[in-house]
Amino acid sequence: MSERVPFANVLHEAMIAKLAVGTALQRGRAYFVERRVQRVSCARGRLVGQVVGTAAYDVAIWGGRSRLGYSCSCPAGANGDFCKHCVALALAWIHRHDSADPPRNRYTPRQGQYLAFIYYYTKLHRRPPAEADMQTYFADSPPVVHGMVNALDRGGFILRTPRAARSIRLLLPRDQIPDLD
Ligand SMILES: [Zn+2]
Repeated sequence: MSERVPFANVLHEAMIAKLAVGTALQRGRAYFVERRVQRVSCARGRLVGQVVGTAAYDVAIWGGRSRLGYSCSCPAGANGDFCKHCVALALAWIHRHDSADPPRNRYTPRQGQYLAFIYYYTKLHRRPPAEADMQTYFADSPPVVHGMVNALDRGGFILRTPRAARSIRLLLPRDQIPDLD
């Protein structure tokens, strides 16, 4: 299996975000984090895998010089959408060399406190916190809070909708979130 895929220049996070339809980006990321992508392989410029959602769907992604082709055996895929399964397979490929440790084992103590705050704030207020709420609680500056939220997002601990206020959602179950000190 060659690591040098001919469409590496077009298969990246920004392209995935551009192609994904509706909630496919968020839900596909959750599938990736939940390790629902199986049997990923790439041969002759064609990336294939199976994504286990409601059922197990066969996904393929291939590419040319400036665009991607894709298919999925789910109903959205039959519709021609870049569905959540396509998103999950693409992310699994992009992140194939990342640590095998589950994300929950990799947050720092400070990140853990932010995760705990997001958990309790959401529970108490019935909506996720804004970054301003975190600035107030932690007495951190806006850039520090923003960097922290970005790091949590990159780490796969939270999901966000770009440019939407109060859209943070935790991807970790309660028992993997520390207490708020
Ligand atoms: Zn699909």
